[in-house]
Amino acid sequence: MPVFLKNQTAEELHRLLGITLRQARMIHAAVIRTGNLPETQDELSIQTLETIRNAAEIPNLTVLDKTVSPQDGFTKYLLRGDGPEPFEAVRIPLLHREDDQKYIACVSSQVGCAMGCAFCYTGKMGFIRNLSAWEMVDQVIKIQADSTHPVRGVVFMGMGEPLLNYDEVIRAARILSEPCGGAISAKAITISTSGITPAIRRFTAEKQPFRLVVSLTSADPMKRLELMPVERLHPAIELVEALRERHVVTRKRIPLAWTMISGINTGEEDAKQLAELTRGIPVMLDLIDVNDPSGKYVPPSPEELSAFRDALRLHLAAPVVRRYSGGKDIAAACGMLAGRMDSALICSPADELSRP
Ligand code: SF4
Repeated sequence: MPVFLKNQTAEELHRLLGITLRQARMIHAAVIRTGNLPETQDELSIQTLETIRNAAEIPNLTVLDKTVSPQDGFTKYLLRGDGPEPFEAVRIPLLHREDDQKYIACVSSQVGCAMGCAFCYTGKMGFIRNLSAWEMVDQVIKIQADSTHPVRGVVFMGMGEPLLNYDEVIRAARILSEPCGGAISAKAITISTSGITPAIRRFTAEKQPFRLVVSLTSADPMKRLELMPVERLHPAIELVEALRERHVVTRKRIPLAWTMISGINTGEEDAKQLAELTRGIPVMLDLIDVNDPSGKYVPPSPEELSAFRDALRLHLAAPVVRRYSGGKDIAAACGMLAGRMDSALICSPADELSRP
């Protein structure tokens, strides 16, 4: 079996290729930053490079299509990896600061998704397959190669439930954050979950340095079940216990995401139930407009949003941020990714995209 270079940490390359750790770091840096092995390297003989070429492969995603939003510059990439089914990644522009222009890459962790959230187009596809770590790493490499500014953050909020592909997602996040790899700060790597409680506990026990955002969307069990079938397997009441434990270990506020749906989860009662459910846990809440191309679910009106924010201020007393969900016009916004050429009809989770 060849060694897949975008799929390994530098430490693993050192062991698998029988080269020194320093050489492994150089190889790793070249592959992750440029997508290729160096032609020459001061500290690597031609012979060693040749041995690595023979023992290793550099797998590559194929970019099938690219769509740039004329409205806000969000860019959607349609990609193909190890399987026939395409999947998508989104480049989020953060170009407003003259002295710190950068991009965030929103990557997919699975093709399709088994979670079936009612407001998400990816969920309607069903689960097709898990992506390998290299297929996630290469989404970032491909976006970087197509960009004039650096990619400084990664959000696992594209297609799929990242915590159901735990090992590969964590491997990809490690490769992207290694100083000799993607060199993206672990704090700027966000993993979003619909609430897979056992995996959240594992993430906490392993002291993973990455940011974890949990999509709650309703604190009412019946309402949440209707919107997010994950409630049946991992009820919010157990989920918040895992989050309470997480707060005890990290001593940090717990980020929650709330996909706002007019008339469904943006009333005063919803704010009260959220406050009740999370009592004693310092949380912070990201509000995201629902993006439902079918029109069944619509975001709150400005008046409804303002009243909901007032209710949250009164009952929850925690930081609340409204996240911009860009790329709506090219079906690149949260909940809209569906991995199709004609995805003008379509949709990813949280809209977070402006977060890190
Ligand atoms: S919101 Fe996320 S977890 Fe839910 S169906 Fe969509 S991709 Fe899956």
